[in-house]
Amino acid sequence: MLNHGTKAARKPTIAYFSMEIGLANDIPTYAGGLGVLAGDTIKSAADLGMPLVGVTLLYRKGYFRQEITPAGRQVEHPVQWRPENFMRPLPNKVHVLIDGRKVSVGTWQYEARSVTSGTVPVLFLDTDLEENHPEDKEITAVLYGGDPRYRFKQEIVLGIAGYRMLQSLGMEISRYHMNEGHASLLTLELLRRYRRPLELVWAEEGVWDLDGVRRSCIFTTHTPEASGHDKFDYDLAEPILRDDRIMDILKQLAGRDQLNMTLLALNLSHYVNGVAKKHGEVSRGLFPGYEFNAITNGVHSFTWTCPSFRRLYDRYLPGWANEPELFVRVDNIPPGEIWDAHAQARLALFDEIYQRTGTRLDPEAMTLGFARRATAYKRAELIFSDLRRLTSIAKKRKLQLVYAGKAHPRDETGKRLIENIFSYSGQLRDALNVTYLQDYDMALASKLVSGVDLWLNTPLRPHEASGTSGMKAAHNGVPNFSVLDGWWIEGHIEGVTGWSIGATPDPSPAPQQFSNQADAEDLYHKLEHVILPLFYDRRMEWIQVMRGAIGKNAYYFNTHRMMRRYATEAYLY
Ligand SMILES: *Cc1c(COP(=O)(O)O)cnc(C)c1O
Repeated sequence: MLNHGTKAARKPTIAYFSMEIGLANDIPTYAGGLGVLAGDTIKSAADLGMPLVGVTLLYRKGYFRQEITPAGRQVEHPVQWRPENFMRPLPNKVHVLIDGRKVSVGTWQYEARSVTSGTVPVLFLDTDLEENHPEDKEITAVLYGGDPRYRFKQEIVLGIAGYRMLQSLGMEISRYHMNEGHASLLTLELLRRYRRPLELVWAEEGVWDLDGVRRSCIFTTHTPEASGHDKFDYDLAEPILRDDRIMDILKQLAGRDQLNMTLLALNLSHYVNGVAKKHGEVSRGLFPGYEFNAITNGVHSFTWTCPSFRRLYDRYLPGWANEPELFVRVDNIPPGEIWDAHAQARLALFDEIYQRTGTRLDPEAMTLGFARRATAYKRAELIFSDLRRLTSIAKKRKLQLVYAGKAHPRDETGKRLIENIFSYSGQLRDALNVTYLQDYDMALASKLVSGVDLWLNTPLRPHEASGTSGMKAAHNGVPNFSVLDGWWIEGHIEGVTGWSIGATPDPSPAPQQFSNQADAEDLYHKLEHVILPLFYDRRMEWIQVMRGAIGKNAYYFNTHRMMRRYATEAYLY
């Protein structure tokens, strides 16, 4: 039985389903932003004492460990890890029918323990059980690996076996929160549960109680790109599901031609949201006729604050980790101490880089950081648009760049992007140092977001739904220098919390054109004439911007605020 206290076990609980959850660096069951957000969500729920249970898959081979060859070519390796070091297996088993075979699904339970308050259990579903067919044992082996068939089977395990596992554990679930469309097959289980007995059905209402299902479901979408929404051919889904009763209603709810997981979730949720205000608007454009709310993402403040800033906040803002609103009083922290805390974080990053690469970065040079998934829309190469210009800027005042990020194993464009950055790094050798660190993960992210001087982000608008690494930087007094997209539209105050790159987006939802060239021009101009002079010549004013990042960005863009909003706007209704 689920062990979270006898009274708590009776409490109606929110079930939070996510294809990936990143709780700790050594538990490699995440790929990027979506998983880290899910982990931060669970940690804040634990801190706030919210009754929540997480559901995800175990991934014994993780996502992958990234090696980058000297030429910049990404090589993927399976991750080796031992679940038994972090969680315990439960005796419960449930079964799902996949391809006509009965597949056993077991689960492990991890406890996300808050230092100050409650505990949130997280179920990691596992098909690697003795009684399963060798092919079925592999279903929960790799995150985002394999073909659409493999992915669909994983989504059956997540949604359907996940639902049954909660039942088997005797949990009383009041709401099902689908973090992205991957989990939306759980609605099929709810449909079966809310199916009206035929003899009680009125002529016009049918056997499916859709409103009953909707009352239970909440759906958060995370991507503003049509191609980012999971779709499966019915030719693929039907033989795997093999349930005629369900196929008919599925086609009404998830699309006639293809099984669209987002559409299924949209049609069966009473509350739907995007992850930033702009993303809410963009989603309304993608799915006309549906109502989208917006709850802007955050990060877990304690997790993403480096040791030197934790000590500083403990001294001046005691209680900050569980009440990030206290950052509003950041101006009480003396500027010299903010700078010292930053200098320590910088040293920790530079040591790490030396350990990993043998390169010693220049301790005096202004350092820009850029780390996120290597994928085309993030435009990691924008700053290299004009190498002569970049060289001339770096000649006047010292500058260095640190990069990290994994490309999805099948994203050739993303992989080439890493190679290109290696090539720019070679071409720029005499002008400025460009270092690309391999195997970006949560541990490296912590070091990077705190140890650089400025956090760079240059996505193609409006493709960044929210973005969260910039919020992590803000928690460490590192200002953002970013294109106005995602969360930064809400967090940016020019020269106060950081700086924008390129034009301000039009508030109208109509698509707008932005040119790489104009964005690059603005980037160079601001870097040369505003940011570098402030950093080197007017340090006190620079520190005031660091305070702005803490007092105005970290203050708001944290998962404690985010979870309070989910509680009052989505979970209670
Ligand atoms: C925070 C984080 C991300 C997400 O960063 P974005 O800026 O939202 O792209 C991705 N990967 C890791 C390891 C992270 O810690």
